[in-house]
Amino acid sequence: MSRSEESERLFARAVQSLPGGVNSPVRAFRSVGGSPRFMARGHGPYLVDADGNELVDLVCSWGPLLLGHAHPAIVEAVRTAAGLGTTYGAPTEAEVVLAERVIALFPSLEMVRFVSSGTEAGMSVVRLARAATGRRAILKFDGCYHGHADALLAAAGSGVATLGLPDSAGVTPATTADTIVVPYNDLAAVAAAFEARGGEIAAILVEPVAGNMGLVPPAPGFLAGLRTIADDHRALLVFDEVMTGWRVHPVGAQVLYDVHPDLTCLGKVIGGGLPAAAYGGRRDLMSRVAPSGDVYQAGTLSGNPLAMAAGLAMLEVLATSDAWARAERFAAEAADGLRSEAAAAGVPLTVQRVGTMFTAFFTDAPVTDYASAKATDAKAFGRFFHAMLDAGVYLPPSAFEAGFTSAVHGPTELDRVLTAARAAFRVV
Ligand SMILES: *Cc1c(COP(=O)(O)O)cnc(C)c1O
Repeated sequence: MSRSEESERLFARAVQSLPGGVNSPVRAFRSVGGSPRFMARGHGPYLVDADGNELVDLVCSWGPLLLGHAHPAIVEAVRTAAGLGTTYGAPTEAEVVLAERVIALFPSLEMVRFVSSGTEAGMSVVRLARAATGRRAILKFDGCYHGHADALLAAAGSGVATLGLPDSAGVTPATTADTIVVPYNDLAAVAAAFEARGGEIAAILVEPVAGNMGLVPPAPGFLAGLRTIADDHRALLVFDEVMTGWRVHPVGAQVLYDVHPDLTCLGKVIGGGLPAAAYGGRRDLMSRVAPSGDVYQAGTLSGNPLAMAAGLAMLEVLATSDAWARAERFAAEAADGLRSEAAAAGVPLTVQRVGTMFTAFFTDAPVTDYASAKATDAKAFGRFFHAMLDAGVYLPPSAFEAGFTSAVHGPTELDRVLTAARAAFRVV
């Protein structure tokens, strides 16, 4: 059993000054029970918590840490940038270079705008899509997350899904009335929504590989089907690749599946572990963004020099090494290993993986949408999570989140993960 007294002390203090003791809900362990570990530092594939426990990190800050913690190239880049001043509120060369790199990688991108979070990318892309099409509605998928902008915090209503319902207190029904929510991987539902409101729909927003309901790949033909429906109705197709960018493929899902969206959101990996995100796409669309166009969007720290330096260092390492292939190999080996350990213990487990992202669902059936994700045994996951944590492995603290690997996870960590899993599957 790992000690957690110091984390518990910090959490007791934290709940007095931070809602729920955290600054982002999933960190609080509510869905697995218990009290969250507070982290003191990270190195390579490891997190070290406040009690000094060294944990194999399979969260990787929810995606950004494709090179692990404190990678020398990124630390050096940030240090150098910090010495030159941390923010200017004026343009820099690094923004231009990172924009050019990202545009060169993603076939559908002709221009990008940097922002500081995936949430900003999601809300801005909706504004742009509405302006460009002159339409008000957007279509999203149940269980897909696009940040916490009001219009995107919509849940599926019952029956014919033509009207989204607020998915958070404080979101008004009027705000979500133009958000249509349908099940993931359900092209017929998309077609039906376009039958009903096609002329009003500005854009389809989709996680091209869903990561925010646990890892759920697109069914064969799903993304191409969305492209066709969008084209037929002159709506825009938006891929939210905030999570999938550099994670499901060395570039992104749009290359992996060869389906090209009109607009793309990026985040997480793009900032190399610092706060940066972006949205981009066709030049005619992006030219609508202020100041070249009439769609207002701004940010004090957008294109921040430290974040640009970290992002550039990240992309440089990825472009000049086998880092991505190593991260994927570890993910594949971990997924295979978890499958065989579960099978040996007689535990029903479905491990879904694309590239460097994976989820171990406690079920014997494939998970294809949010309903089937919610039907898995989340209580068993909670027990598994805590057994793994006690054995020194930090999994996402929720049954409905993806795990992430890095280029610096190797044989030692694989052995630790699978040895822990062997014991953990016996207690679930
Ligand atoms: C994480 C995430 C976001 C939100 O990004 P933040 O930087 O947390 O605001 C949006 N979309 C997807 C697909 C994400 O995974």
